[in-house]
Amino acid sequence: MKEDKRFYTFVFAPTASSPLRKFNVPHKVLQAILGFAIVGMLTVVYGAYRLTQHAYVVAKLNILEHKNRELREKNQEAESKYDQLQNRLAALDTTQRKLAEVSGVSRTADVSKDIGRGGPDGEADISGIEQTTAALESELRNIKDVFDRNQVKLSSTPNGWPVRGYITDGFGNRRNPFGGGGYESHAGLDIATNHGTAIEATADGLVIFAGAHGGYGNIVVIDHGYGVTTRYGHMSKIDVQVGQHVTRGKMIGAVGSTGRSTAPHCHYEVRLHDRPVNPLNYISINK
Ligand SMILES: [Zn+2]
Repeated sequence: MKEDKRFYTFVFAPTASSPLRKFNVPHKVLQAILGFAIVGMLTVVYGAYRLTQHAYVVAKLNILEHKNRELREKNQEAESKYDQLQNRLAALDTTQRKLAEVSGVSRTADVSKDIGRGGPDGEADISGIEQTTAALESELRNIKDVFDRNQVKLSSTPNGWPVRGYITDGFGNRRNPFGGGGYESHAGLDIATNHGTAIEATADGLVIFAGAHGGYGNIVVIDHGYGVTTRYGHMSKIDVQVGQHVTRGKMIGAVGSTGRSTAPHCHYEVRLHDRPVNPLNYISINK
C-alpha cells in the first residue's frame, strides 16, 4: 500500500498589504481534524440531549412533589373530618342509648365496636362509620315506632278535667240525692259549675253517642280505643255529632241540668271495657 503523499495548500494574507503566505497540510492531518470535529459535534449534541432529558425529569419530579404535598394535606383534612364524625356519632350514640332505655327498645347498634378502630394501615376506616350510621338509623326507627304508639296511647288516655268546678259527688256508692232513702252506685264524678260552661273532651277519640239518654239527659259518649270510653252528662247543649273525631281539649258541649239532675253540673264517667272506673284516677293533679 502506497503512502498518501497528497496535501492541501492553504494560501492566505494576514493583512491587505502583506505578502501572501502559504502552508501545506497533508491529507491525513486534515482528515484527522475533520474526524475530531465530527466526534466533538456528536458529543455536544448528545450532551444537549441528556441535559434536556434531565431538565424534563426534574420538572416532572417537581410536579409530582407538589401533587404529593396536596394529597398529604387533603389526607390530613380527611382524617380530621373522620375524627369529628366519630365524635359526633359517639354523641348520637349516647343520646340514642337514653332514648332506647326510655322506650324499652333493646339496642342493636354497637358503636364502640364499629367506630374507633383504624383501618389496616391505621388510616381512617370509613366502613365503620357507615355501619354505625346504618345501625343507629335502624335502631332509631324502632324507637320512633315505640314513641309513636305511646303517643297515640297517651293522647287517647283520658287526662285532666272535662270542666273546672267543684266535685259535688264522687265515684262509688252514695245516698240517693233525690231522697227516698237508700244508696245507689254513682258511676262517675259530678263536677258542678255555671250553666253554659264549656265541656271539653279529656282525650282524643271518636264520638259514638250524642243526644238525650234517660237520666243522663243530653250526653256525649267518646270512644278512645284500648277499651276506654268517657261520658259527659246533663249537658245544656251538644256541640259534636256521632262519628266525629275529637282531640283532647275540644269543646263538645256545655254544662246544663238536663236529665236526672238537681243543679247544673257535668256528670263525667270513664269506662274500661264498659265498666265504670274512678275518673279521679285519670285526672292529673297538675291539670
Ligand atoms: Zn253524676
